[in-house]
Amino acid sequence: MIRQFELVETVKSYDPSTDEDALNRAYVFSMRAHGNQKRASGDPYFSHPLEVAGILTGYRLDSNSIITALLHDTIEDTTATSSEIEEQFGEEVAQLVDGVTKLTQIELQSDQSDQAENFRKLVLAMSEDIRVLLVKLADRLHNMRTLHFIENQDKRRRIALETMEIYAPLAERIGMQELKNELEDLSFGELNPDARESINSRLEFLRSEGKDNVDAIIKELKETLAHRTIKAEVYGREKSPYSIWRKTQKKNISFELVSDIIAFRIVVDTIDDCYRALGVIHGAYMMVPGRFKDYISTPKPNGYQSLHTGIIGPERQRIEIQIRARRMHEVAEMGVAAHWEYKQNTDPKTGRQYRWMQELLDILEHAANPDDFLEHTKLEMFPDQVFSFTPKGEVIALPAGATAIDFAYAVHSEVGDTCVGAKINGRPMPLRTELENGDQVEIITSPAQTPSPTWENFATTGKARARIRRFIRLRQREEYINLGKSILERGFQKEGYEFAEKAFDEILTIFSADSVDDLYAEVGAGQATGREVIEAVFPGSKDSNRSKVAQLFRRRSKKKKADEKTSVPIKGLIPGMALHFAGCCHALPGDRIVGIVTKGRGITIHTIDCETLEEFADTPERWVDVAWEEDANSERRAGRVEIVVTNEPGSLGELSMVIAKNNGNINNLKITNRSQEFFDMSVDIEVHDIKHLRNIIAALRASPVINSVERSRG
Ligand code: MN
Repeated sequence: MIRQFELVETVKSYDPSTDEDALNRAYVFSMRAHGNQKRASGDPYFSHPLEVAGILTGYRLDSNSIITALLHDTIEDTTATSSEIEEQFGEEVAQLVDGVTKLTQIELQSDQSDQAENFRKLVLAMSEDIRVLLVKLADRLHNMRTLHFIENQDKRRRIALETMEIYAPLAERIGMQELKNELEDLSFGELNPDARESINSRLEFLRSEGKDNVDAIIKELKETLAHRTIKAEVYGREKSPYSIWRKTQKKNISFELVSDIIAFRIVVDTIDDCYRALGVIHGAYMMVPGRFKDYISTPKPNGYQSLHTGIIGPERQRIEIQIRARRMHEVAEMGVAAHWEYKQNTDPKTGRQYRWMQELLDILEHAANPDDFLEHTKLEMFPDQVFSFTPKGEVIALPAGATAIDFAYAVHSEVGDTCVGAKINGRPMPLRTELENGDQVEIITSPAQTPSPTWENFATTGKARARIRRFIRLRQREEYINLGKSILERGFQKEGYEFAEKAFDEILTIFSADSVDDLYAEVGAGQATGREVIEAVFPGSKDSNRSKVAQLFRRRSKKKKADEKTSVPIKGLIPGMALHFAGCCHALPGDRIVGIVTKGRGITIHTIDCETLEEFADTPERWVDVAWEEDANSERRAGRVEIVVTNEPGSLGELSMVIAKNNGNINNLKITNRSQEFFDMSVDIEVHDIKHLRNIIAALRASPVINSVERSRG
């Protein structure tokens, strides 16, 4: 166990500005809070936070991270409170400890492993400060190192599985290769002890036979490089049993070759030396085709840089070599933690204390693939998603702003249709409540319940809205059918005819109805009158005559033709209804759209997220579910975007050039605000569809003079 003064000395050695007093107080605070608690190993519990702190000093983290490590289990496991911690150690530490505590709590809830990716996203989304994640990973590492003390085998397996599926990939994502390897290997030992054992004994055998061989290879590589005046260190490092096992699994081979068990590494001073060393190696030995990878010019998304190559090396052995500069080596081993900078190195202009964070973002920004960039950069990372749990621990991912009703429909349509209430984190809450990351949501259902039109006001997901609206429409149609039927019955009675449904079969086409129910619904909705129907069934009755019906028939069929001619690219419309597009949101083919019925004006089309729709929240009967025809992109439509451009010569030129290059056409441009530094403008761009517009937005965002680009939302 590290002692108090050792810990403080270590932190001071790499961060001279450490608040020594706070470190000492945290040590004592944690020791007293954990009191007589014991670990499964029989050690005092306090040894655990202390070891976690020790692991993090290995990454030379700042004193607040170390203090957080010391305190990380006090809220969850002792009587200490967050406000006490804030009082004694300040707001920053209190927030960090809260963050780690939250992660620990979700970990306790979940024993499902099939949702690993969602879970990783959840953990990332909840680690608003990356130091929270670093402390959590160190916590997990120490728990894995001491896993064998836990007696319950199910519990050991669950923890190992979670480590393998959640925490090792997270460590990899932030580039902490060494920590990832250890986590994987410890999990492997728990999950597949026999495989690990057999690999170890095989390794031992190969080692006893080939050890001199590895040393000889290192020696020859060193000499080859020195001969060409390249200063280099050469290592041969055994791969971990788990990575060997995975490789043999993947390729279905046994490991006999040195290249399978030893990774040779050449560490030089500069990038230049990397390529020179590569040239020397390729000059001296035969290269194995297809093994060369340049991760220096194209770093991996997590910042990893190296040259990889395979050669037939000294002793005619096939070997794999990684060549990297010293700085890259640090990054490869320590990931984000290697980017830590101390206070004296802070950027004097911005005063940013966490420059390594900035550096990390820079590295990621230059990663090869823009998708990777999006996937891996944002550490506050999924601002557009919220992750919550069912009582069984299943993760439900929803768009940010989603409410309990969305959750209910996400679990199952039936659950949504019959839900009467929700418990969030154990407390009854209204269905309109917006969910937060990590909420546990229990939906209460009743078989007697049916969807309520008011739900649409706070349902945000397409699935929930569509389902609610469908239900409302079905019920509305039922009402129209009943109403229409009774109107016709009364009409027939009044005219002295006997009412018979059969009579309508002949006249359905006149009313463009597919069935008798359709006809009733038309009458019920007021699209056709009872009188018109009766006249159609009994031509010449009373004061009407045939020609009038003929006229009616002609009028309707003509109307239908007119519709076809304008070829509105939208499905779900009532035939003959006028249609136009709202000027607020500029819907494009591919957008999710809804129609709003306006008396005398027909239907107005909005995008589903248009802010104007709030005005119609209280009149669900005016909403019509519509969709684009599949081939709706024959004609170009204008989409509107809000752009902020740097105010400098040429930036407007650049803007229009980017749009033109991407085959878009500006048909309107309005400057809405102009300041010393920026123009805000609203631009209408003619495009084929939403995909086309998104391409243009992405291209604009890539331009250095363009500050931000957003689709207009009404
Ligand atoms: Mn812990």
